[in-house]
Amino acid sequence: MEKAKGFLFDITKCKLCGACWIADKERNKLPIPEGDFTKDKLSENAFLEMDRRHDRGVRFSCMHCLIPTCASVCPVAAFEKTSIGAVIYHKDRCIGCRYCVFGCPFNVPKYEWDKPLPYVRKCDFCYSRIIDGKQPACAQACPTGALIFGNRDDLILEAHRRIRENSNYVDHIYGEHEVGGTSLLLISDISMYKLGYPGNLSDGAVPSLTWEVLEKIPNVVLIGGTFLAGLWWLTNRRNEVMQAESGKKDNSSDTESGSEGGGK
Ligand code: SF4
Ligand code: SF4
Ligand code: SF4
Repeated sequence: MEKAKGFLFDITKCKLCGACWIADKERNKLPIPEGDFTKDKLSENAFLEMDRRHDRGVRFSCMHCLIPTCASVCPVAAFEKTSIGAVIYHKDRCIGCRYCVFGCPFNVPKYEWDKPLPYVRKCDFCYSRIIDGKQPACAQACPTGALIFGNRDDLILEAHRRIRENSNYVDHIYGEHEVGGTSLLLISDISMYKLGYPGNLSDGAVPSLTWEVLEKIPNVVLIGGTFLAGLWWLTNRRNEVMQAESGKKDNSSDTESGSEGGGK
């Protein structure tokens, strides 16, 4: 079985050149705003945010959690944690409940509020590129080695080696244990919390905590179930209208992550 992949982002090596940001935009066919790219915050049109904080380049995107809350809270399995590490989105299953948007501990999934047929949008780890044996577009574009892609286990060893051999690093691999571990790992010479990464996360996976609480509140489950049934009907209706309009009633089972198709 293929080993789970990951990214190692070494903040000490980032020159904020923006090559990863451009590569992400091009790969996902997202609009490229003019001006300072560090002003482009995570949104339905920005799956990768590069910002300057404390004179360093920092990266915000989906963390591709090992036990993702987005997948756990989704009632229709629109999110899937794949064996290679990517958390992908099955657009055709989404009922628009937005539990994923509110459940993500990193505030990543964004909803297309302005669209008549909205979906959830986020980085998909360049899933289709990885399946094709390529690197994610952002990692391939990085000229300094600040962002590298590989087996998650190997990247953790590499991060520990760098920290051991250079006392400038903070002795912390962000993502090794947070929320049960993530596929994006970060190291830095300054506290990750100071740079704006969430600092109040437990080492345990968030989904188990979430469901432990929900289970104790039967009304939430009951009301939530009724609400979801309504959403399910609306989504089915939406799909029927779409199919009727496009004249293609072919029961397609396409999947989509970001703007490029995902799925197994
Ligand atoms: S960071 Fe959020 S959207 Fe990404 S896998 Fe984790 S829970 Fe899901
Ligand atoms: S992995 Fe792909 S989708 Fe995710 S930030 Fe990098 S280029 Fe964008
Ligand atoms: S391409 Fe590399 S060096 Fe340039 S902004 Fe992205 S992570 Fe930093």
